[in-house]
Amino acid sequence: MTQPSARSPSTLNTDNAIALPDPAAPILDAGALAELAALGEEREVEVGDVLYRAGDESSDFVVVLEGAVDIVRPDRDGESLITTHGAGRFLGELSMVTGQRLYLTARVTQRGRVLAVPPESFRRVMSTRPDLAETIFSAFVARRELLRTGEGARAIRIIGSRYSPEAMALRAFAARSRLPHTWIDIEDADDVDVLLADMGFRRPDTPVVITSTGVLRHPSPGEFAEHLGLTFRPAPGYLFDLVVVGSGPAGLAAAVYGASEGLTTISLDAASVGGQAGASSRIENYVGFPNGISGEELTARAAVQAQRLGARLNAPCEVAGLRIEDGFLVMVLADGSEIPTRTVIIASGARYQRLAVDDLERFEGAGVYYAATDLEARICSGWPVVVIGGGNSAGQASIYLAQQGSQVSIVIRGSDLSHSMSHYLIERIDADPRIEVVIDTEVRALEGESHLDHVTLECTPTGERRTVACSGLFCFIGADPATAWLAGAVELDARRFVVTDRSLPDSIVNGPNFATRRPLPFETSVPGIFAVGDVRSGSLKRVAAAVGEGSSAVRSAIEHVATITD
Ligand SMILES: Cc1cc2nc3c(=O)[nH]c(=O)nc-3n(C[C@H](O)[C@H](O)[C@H](O)COP(=O)(O)OP(=O)(O)OC[C@H]3O[C@@H](n4cnc5c(N)ncnc54)[C@H](O)[C@@H]3O)c2cc1C
Repeated sequence: MTQPSARSPSTLNTDNAIALPDPAAPILDAGALAELAALGEEREVEVGDVLYRAGDESSDFVVVLEGAVDIVRPDRDGESLITTHGAGRFLGELSMVTGQRLYLTARVTQRGRVLAVPPESFRRVMSTRPDLAETIFSAFVARRELLRTGEGARAIRIIGSRYSPEAMALRAFAARSRLPHTWIDIEDADDVDVLLADMGFRRPDTPVVITSTGVLRHPSPGEFAEHLGLTFRPAPGYLFDLVVVGSGPAGLAAAVYGASEGLTTISLDAASVGGQAGASSRIENYVGFPNGISGEELTARAAVQAQRLGARLNAPCEVAGLRIEDGFLVMVLADGSEIPTRTVIIASGARYQRLAVDDLERFEGAGVYYAATDLEARICSGWPVVVIGGGNSAGQASIYLAQQGSQVSIVIRGSDLSHSMSHYLIERIDADPRIEVVIDTEVRALEGESHLDHVTLECTPTGERRTVACSGLFCFIGADPATAWLAGAVELDARRFVVTDRSLPDSIVNGPNFATRRPLPFETSVPGIFAVGDVRSGSLKRVAAAVGEGSSAVRSAIEHVATITD
């Protein structure tokens, strides 16, 4: 007999509840249920039982066998109903794979029975039962997408000004980590003070992050991530097979292949998943995406893929150094914690150089940008912008910003683009009336109050200067390798890129480090440490090349592990 449903508390708002569409709501068949039953425990549940609560670090994987369960988002005024799961459906979404603290609550509304599979067994299912994992994983991804746009997005609210670098950093972190969140821009409010007072804040409190379990005033992305449970939590004595430094395309590929080959793998990134590729609005030369794909989308997919296969991904999590101890490698993090590992893949990439101009720091994130994604384009839409640099990234950024409604000036020191930019981009720039190329020119000064509004350009052959309106200065000038953290641990070339395998000097190849074998592909001057992608000396500086190198280096890492464990 069906039990009457009961919902609590009385402040439950059901206005925006959704009936999940098919991909997000598969019914597990008898075979799948039998597989899970062998790993979990069946139990009776009563109306009002909470199966997990927003703020919990993790939960069992729960299948509803009989009865019904509401998924709700708690807030200070009560709760909002997201959806209801009935018999045959399982609970949860992507945070069960990413390790993020739970931000929704599951409460029984109709008594019945559930099957609860503990997190460890659930992780094994995800990496060893491909068919079942596929069903569960596809539903988690579909649910996350629904949560990113619907009522679930209010589980995290970021309140701030689009002109605040602090707020921009939080938004960029949330976007790149694909967190369901709502952005509330105080610049759009008729009366900012009233808007904020209504939520219990004052202007100096911003940016503010509100989650189901707390309020953070002026958090850094690191504090925000810590609050969500996304930062690294050391497990004393645990030895990884592979630590990957950097979660750009190269690092993500290494994490995907490392985990899929059965290596215990962790990838750490000082900022967020995506690397430079995450700063690109559209990558058009990556195989398999004929219409191009945004760098954020490509790398977010890779991150989810790596996690599904069992890799751990943590960001922000800066690696400050590494040392060798008792034959093992020890990664030292910026917060002082340490991670012992058998092998390391360095994929820390490169960073665009900063302009040598006064006041740069004041405008970084408030008009000076090193990425051209949807976030930056929206701020500048309808206003003139300047893009500095003559490479492909500058070309792509210019085309995208023009498409988003800005008048774009590409400023280059040289006299044409043909030496540095691909032909297809030059053709598009030539054909776009919204883009002009300003040659033989450099930026000399920045102006504005709280946000950049003008820049001064100098024509270098004549010394003539002019000041032009500019709401966004996009810098894509030469990139420096992110190798300062290595502090001499491995051999670098004259430009501080990491030297590997065939490029290593004879003194190292014939020296004590390689007394028993030759350096493996992508191996640095230290056995067991490999380097891939933009950080590697002689690399191609393209997404596809970085992905290829990251995946190939795993082969070498496996070979090294085999030699040290034999
Ligand atoms: C705007 C833009 C557009 C582009 N467009 C294209 C394109 O269309 N096609 C193409 O092929 N290429 C493009 N590129 C180049 C491409 O993005 C890079 O070649 C590629 O991202 C390199 O990948 P990577 O993983 O080696 O390094 P990166 O992408 O640089 O990633 C390195 C990561 O390491 C992290 N890191 C650095 N130091 C540390 C540390 N100490 N501890 C932990 N983490 C650390 C960084 O935070 C970063 O996330 C573009 C680049 C930009 C900036």
